[in-house]
Amino acid sequence: MSLPRYQVLIGGEWRDAASGAVFETHDPYAGKAWALIPECNDQDVDRAVAAAKDAFERGPWATMTATQRGALLRKLGDLVAANAESLARTEVRDNGKLISEMLGQTRYVPQWYYYFGGLADKVEGGVLPIDKAGVFNFTRWEPLGVVAAIVPWNSPLLLLTWKLAPALAAGNTVVIKPSEFTSASALEFGRLFEQAGFPPGVVNIVTGYGKEVGEPLVTHPDVAKVAFTGGELSGQRVYESAARGLKRVTLELGGKSPNIVFDDAVMEDAVKGAISGIFAATGQTCIAGSRLLVQRSIHNEFVDRLVTFARTAKMGDPADPDTQVGPVTTPPQYRKILDYIAVGRSEGAQVALGGGPADKARFGDGWFIEPTIFTGVNNRMRIAQEEIFGPVLSVIPFEDEEEAIAIANDTAYGLAAGVWTQSIRRALMMSERLRAGTVWVNTYRAVSFMSPFGGYKRSGLGRESGQEAIYEYLQQKSVWISTATEVPNPFVLR
Ligand code: NAD
Repeated sequence: MSLPRYQVLIGGEWRDAASGAVFETHDPYAGKAWALIPECNDQDVDRAVAAAKDAFERGPWATMTATQRGALLRKLGDLVAANAESLARTEVRDNGKLISEMLGQTRYVPQWYYYFGGLADKVEGGVLPIDKAGVFNFTRWEPLGVVAAIVPWNSPLLLLTWKLAPALAAGNTVVIKPSEFTSASALEFGRLFEQAGFPPGVVNIVTGYGKEVGEPLVTHPDVAKVAFTGGELSGQRVYESAARGLKRVTLELGGKSPNIVFDDAVMEDAVKGAISGIFAATGQTCIAGSRLLVQRSIHNEFVDRLVTFARTAKMGDPADPDTQVGPVTTPPQYRKILDYIAVGRSEGAQVALGGGPADKARFGDGWFIEPTIFTGVNNRMRIAQEEIFGPVLSVIPFEDEEEAIAIANDTAYGLAAGVWTQSIRRALMMSERLRAGTVWVNTYRAVSFMSPFGGYKRSGLGRESGQEAIYEYLQQKSVWISTATEVPNPFVLR
């Protein structure tokens, strides 16, 4: 049976890759190819950037008011809402995450288009009470030009939207590069731009690999800004290339987030919080609470309850709404997780649950790994320092608040942290002293279009979501108008 074949969107037209090449995209549950994706290269990137540049400089987009842009974004939000279910099903097929999770995301995605659509015409410059006579000075916020939006495979449309909504609201045009593992939902989403009324070339999509498509996009002289979510190494490469072109960047990278349970926590809630931190999304989330710090006085009881709960997690078909743990998304990721489990064993950590691939007889050719809990972990071990991006939890005991803070902050990353306590003093003190872009107290994995998201330290640069995110896609201009009747001395600075 022939597989469905997707096309890319360039300048408002659906096309094959310039080379005509395609690659297979896989269903992680079945472990089989299910569709063909255009394998673009630098020629496609050149065309997409040219279309975006043209739309930015000459198309109707260039003269549209911010209010009109906002209306288009809100229409796009309505269309995503109307198509949320089919988009979610495509994502499940492509990345193997749970239908409950992906549907939750695609139903929530419209809010970013509504929020930034509403914000588009509320970005105001100022008239400055300038300290010079005979001159009027005001500021304007202007778009940057062509934005490259590069996204990973774990939450394809959500992470794309975090870039696209503010970039378009600010008046930029965009070239999207989805992950080579999960391009289908972005291409289906691309059908909605025309329906929403976006002029051709305002949003373009090219698909393919990081080296062949991502790099030419980042280095293209007509790309003004790169908004990237992905792994740390690719992020570094993107940052270096962008630096050579003196481009603006936003980087959302990895994490090794501490989820900290104090002995005064509501234990049942904290157990669920620990589970949600690591086994939701099969651990394939940048904000995974992959280091569980548990106060020594409750450590053994807590671990027992955690293991008992995790053991009941229902693994299986991600398209089944009752499934709680699905497959991992890609074969390289599957191998990487198993390698880390071996590292944990060799470092002397004890396996309290799982510790290997899931039973082939039950899960066929899908890429399933058992939810795995390591105890006896020391924060210096590799399984405590390196991002695994899978269902592998490292449990680390601590004595008191000072030790919890020291361990929590002893990491190269700083994306998120969780704290479980009933003490308001402790909650406030911890949220101040944890070096992370997001701190959750008595909850975990909450995000909103209103709340800034991003990393401290090696977890990234810049913020997505929240009002300030629009300024990541704008630049400020200062305009001076002389009101003087006489021209001053031209040889001195005014
Ligand atoms: P990845 O870095 O391999 O790929 C991300 C994207 O970048 C893909 O589209 C890829 O093709 C592209 N790419 C790769 N090399 C490139 C290059 N040199 N130039 C330009 N583009 C390039 O990451 P991944 O494996 O797809 O995703 C997992 C990673 O993403 C994890 O490390 C995770 O922590 C991180 N992540 C971060 C966040 C966040 O918001 N902080 C969210 C989700 C995922």
